[in-house]
Amino acid sequence: MKDMNVLVINCGSSSLKFQLINSLSEKVIAKGLCERIGIEGSQMTYTPAGGEKYEKVTPMKDHTEAVRLVLEALTDKDHGVVKSLSEIGAVGHRLVHGGENFAGSTLISDEVIQAIEECNDLAPLHNPANLIGIRACQELMPDTPMAGVFDTAFHQTMPEEAYLYGLPYRYYEKYKVRRYGFHGTSHSYVSKRAAQILGKDYADLKIIVCHLGNGASVSAVKNGKCVDTSMGLTPLEGLIMGTRSGDIDPAIIEFLCNKEGKSVHEILNVLNKESGVFGLSEGFSSDFRDLEKAYRAGEAPSIRTMKTFAYRVAKYIGAYTAAMNGVDVICFTAGIGENSPFIRAMIASYLGYLGITIDEKANEKRGEEICISVPESNTKVLVVPTNEELAIARETVALL
Ligand code: ADP
Repeated sequence: MKDMNVLVINCGSSSLKFQLINSLSEKVIAKGLCERIGIEGSQMTYTPAGGEKYEKVTPMKDHTEAVRLVLEALTDKDHGVVKSLSEIGAVGHRLVHGGENFAGSTLISDEVIQAIEECNDLAPLHNPANLIGIRACQELMPDTPMAGVFDTAFHQTMPEEAYLYGLPYRYYEKYKVRRYGFHGTSHSYVSKRAAQILGKDYADLKIIVCHLGNGASVSAVKNGKCVDTSMGLTPLEGLIMGTRSGDIDPAIIEFLCNKEGKSVHEILNVLNKESGVFGLSEGFSSDFRDLEKAYRAGEAPSIRTMKTFAYRVAKYIGAYTAAMNGVDVICFTAGIGENSPFIRAMIASYLGYLGITIDEKANEKRGEEICISVPESNTKVLVVPTNEELAIARETVALL
């Protein structure tokens, strides 16, 4: 194993998250976030391992400026963690959409950048921001090798019957309209980790991963390969999420356009930003901590919201059990999956038919790897905290 520091970059349209990870110890050496890039009030939060977190409010007119500040912080004589940029051996970029062009991670080259650009249509908000992050790093660290790790890549093993929509086939041929899936790095990391925790061979298992965060998706991983996942052409499909609707009857869009006098674009904005648990709770909250408190206080909007959310997850678990003709292990991960015993128990209440009984004591734990089903359960239920940054760092090192 190479001993090097890998800078993991996750670039959004106005934000940049970063972690510097050592490949041997797999420890985070420093991490942080630049927010409001290109907008008034931009600021950077930076935390060196074992040191104090500090915030710097300073204008960042673009992502290059943000990367420059990150590199300055990492090499700063007071808060820095490396002496010079030569101690950063590689950069791993989290990339959202690789379309059908990428079934795995890749080293960044001019051809790769062009192939990512070809997928811009499929992720018009995310891919251009990811590319800006790559270019900014190339400008400031021209000799450092870089890798791209795609959210979609892990799902490229889905069979045709799972990725095709019931649309005229020409739309797939002409425009590549199909299901791609997202959160692939997390689904891959968590499913592999589940096999290790159980001491079983990854290639022999049927695993369902429920990645329940602000964005949420479920995947079915059979014999080490993803065979289905709930997100589609875009991350709007599937589960009910923080503010995204998940699956709906597509005819609702025209219906609402007519009733509300809005354009398709405006209604899609509602589906992405004002729906999900936020919309169902009448704008009360998209955060499950708030919803849970209100549920316990007997507030009807939060009760119906959490029930609807949990029911949808349980339905996908049923569908993926059918897709794999069984399931050996169900994993919960991401913000809600790792931290909400309440939601996990609510979802598990639908799973008695799989021979699952939840160990209530174990299920009280938050944010740690733990088996929450009783030993007699036919199907195991695990909580596996995800670590997308570590997975990206590992992929990056493996490519070098
Ligand atoms: P994303 O990466 O998609 O933004 P995360 O995976 O960080 O989302 O998940 C964030 C969500 O996790 C929060 O919106 C909140 O609903 C949920 N969450 C975090 N901590 C808890 C907790 N202790 N109990 C319940 N839900 C929690």
